[in-house]
Amino acid sequence: MKVLVINCGSSSLKFQLIDSESESCLAKGLCERIGIEGSMITYAPEGGEKEKNVTPMPDHTEAIRLVLEALTNSKTGVVKSLDEIGAVGHRVVHGGEKFAQSVVIDDEVMKAIEECNDLAPLHNPANLIGINACKALMPKTPMVAVFDTAFHQTMPEEAYMYGLPYEYYKKYKIRRYGFHGTSHSYVSKRASEVLGMSYENLKIVVCHLGNGASVSAVKHGRCVDTSMGLTPLQGLIMGTRSGDIDPAIIEFLAHKENKSIDEIMAVLNKKSGVLGLSDNLSSDFRDLEEGYHKGDENAIRAMKTFCYNVAKYIGAYAAAMNGVDVICFTAGVGENAALVRTFICEYLGYLGVKIDQEANGKRGEDTVISTIDSKTTVMVIPTNEELAIARETVKLL
Ligand code: ADP
Repeated sequence: MKVLVINCGSSSLKFQLIDSESESCLAKGLCERIGIEGSMITYAPEGGEKEKNVTPMPDHTEAIRLVLEALTNSKTGVVKSLDEIGAVGHRVVHGGEKFAQSVVIDDEVMKAIEECNDLAPLHNPANLIGINACKALMPKTPMVAVFDTAFHQTMPEEAYMYGLPYEYYKKYKIRRYGFHGTSHSYVSKRASEVLGMSYENLKIVVCHLGNGASVSAVKHGRCVDTSMGLTPLQGLIMGTRSGDIDPAIIEFLAHKENKSIDEIMAVLNKKSGVLGLSDNLSSDFRDLEEGYHKGDENAIRAMKTFCYNVAKYIGAYAAAMNGVDVICFTAGVGENAALVRTFICEYLGYLGVKIDQEANGKRGEDTVISTIDSKTTVMVIPTNEELAIARETVKLL
């Protein structure tokens, strides 16, 4: 079956068409600036040239229409007609406590996703718009929702509760949910396959380090803790997000800088993380690595603080699982930044971690980067959230 995977943001839409039998990506692309002047679509068929077209996209329905047109185009398209697309898998950010698994989308599911809008006001409404736009253009094609939060629903109460009045949990469902679940699930399973070991017997820490970053503890195939919380702002220091801070800082800064709560939240989401720590040098680890090698003190501070922070979470999750067998690095930074992996692993001598620097220099493939005598296995596993969504979609249908 050919599955169209859609990841819809408020002004962007990423897509991939995946052949579920061969698990290959037939075409992929991105619509940007939807509803804004200068919208453009990037489209790349497998093995073909990438093309970029600036074209008006007043809304998501028009964006999806252009995607479907590109996929069926007589020259660069990869299917003859839309009938060849057997299903659509949608990434949905927040499934609250309602969804511990992916689901086939029907009216009831749409309502339930909408009820989670409060918990992810920037993401869920955009996801729903994407689903509605697809339904309008492909009314007979079955659709599946795959939630970022679902994999983390197995966390025990002591891992997901905050030390707040319990009434806020009862009234508003304030608790840790966690995100990047599709990636944490895919990477941890893949690690066990690559090692040829049973998923149900392993204790795995997954470090998903991208622009957004999170760590999770996967014990015997179930997530038992994760670093992001009610929202994706909690946990690790990220590209531009602060991660964990003393909550009192918000009030302190609001007074000192004469800013509203909304303005402070924008600082925490967009101007903090390694961008803020590096005194605005960059949120991109390619720039930070370069700066580090040149001895730039802003780059050094950002790199060191980021890596120390990840190492502390690994320690916490080793404690949560009473040990750890495998540590996996994934996503843009985790897969590519060898220096970041080296710095993090320097803190892990107590877990018997020893890194093979030659293996650590490889890119783009599933690799064990620890030495044979390392007590804990350390791996790089490239994540593939689109493939995971396509697999879930096929499984449900
Ligand atoms: P997201 O999906 O959260 O937007 P990604 O997982 O794509 O993020 O990661 C993007 C980040 O990965 C970039 O901002 C950059 O910091 C980092 N990155 C990408 N390529 C490299 C590289 N070759 N070396 C170091 N860091 C890299």
